[in-house]
Amino acid sequence: MSDIKENVLNAIGNTPLVKLNKINVKNIEIYVKLEYYSPGMSIKDRIALGMIEDAERKGLIEPGDTIIGKTSGNTGIGLAIACAVKGYRFVAVMSAGNSAERQKILRALGAEVVLVPQQPGEEPGRISRKDNDAVEKKTQELTEKLNAYRPNQYINSMNWKVHQHTTGQEIIRQTSGRLDAFVAYIGTGGTFVGIARALKSFNNDIKCYPVEPGVAAFLAGKKVITTQHLIQGGGHAVKPPFWDESIVDGYIQVSEDEAIKTARALAKNEGILTGFSGGANVAAAAKLDDSLRPGSIVVTVLPDTGLKYLSTVLYE
Ligand code: PMP
Repeated sequence: MSDIKENVLNAIGNTPLVKLNKINVKNIEIYVKLEYYSPGMSIKDRIALGMIEDAERKGLIEPGDTIIGKTSGNTGIGLAIACAVKGYRFVAVMSAGNSAERQKILRALGAEVVLVPQQPGEEPGRISRKDNDAVEKKTQELTEKLNAYRPNQYINSMNWKVHQHTTGQEIIRQTSGRLDAFVAYIGTGGTFVGIARALKSFNNDIKCYPVEPGVAAFLAGKKVITTQHLIQGGGHAVKPPFWDESIVDGYIQVSEDEAIKTARALAKNEGILTGFSGGANVAAAAKLDDSLRPGSIVVTVLPDTGLKYLSTVLYE
């Protein structure tokens, strides 16, 4: 019995990298990292575990303590899994506008879910700045009230370090270092910053492009959600505190429509069922077709599974 994982946390990461064969590009090859292979079906399992273990190492928490997270779902699911295995109580605070699946998965994994109502008249799935602020306020309130530990992914350096040490290294190993560009949709920015740092320190010629639906607002540092788009998990148009312009070779803008069309094409043509942001990432990668030399390899991540969006318009 040499191939047994001690517990499910050991099954996080080491996800497959798959070549796309039917995507409409002439010059380039696109490889996608299927992060939905992780136990919580998203890329966020990696950082959830990383943040918990970092807090344990620093002596900030011990089993039995209460962990709290403000999350659009995926980080919460990762935290819920880590807490279930390690014996912590977990409270997830999220907007009621997030998909029903996310709430149900969290509860199934033993989390206590606190839903913050959306602003009056707002459409489910479109989380506004005000909604976001309301969730933040509630999380701060509860953190104090419950004397909970909050592994805040927006400022926690483990958010990008975990990607530098795991996801980035996996990409280098899986491609034998033969990649030309990397793109990633940004929410907290941890995925992009961590992987781009790993790639740039391996080979500074690898081009790295963040993907953002409202690039202009992002660059202007406006604290607004420009388009209240459906691409869950990001597009807040807020520069993360650990943002690093020196690893950015340019920004790629992708619309909600492009993200949806591409996600649907991935499912129908390649058998790959991902979410909105996975669609956004592949749409962004395809936009490099004209600017890279023939034979270039572009890598991106598919942050989560389409199964998390069955109640949304994505696969209607
Ligand atoms: N896509 C999805 C589905 C996500 O949940 C997240 C994380 N919020 C992202 C993309 C963006 O990743 P990051 O926070 O590392 O920028």
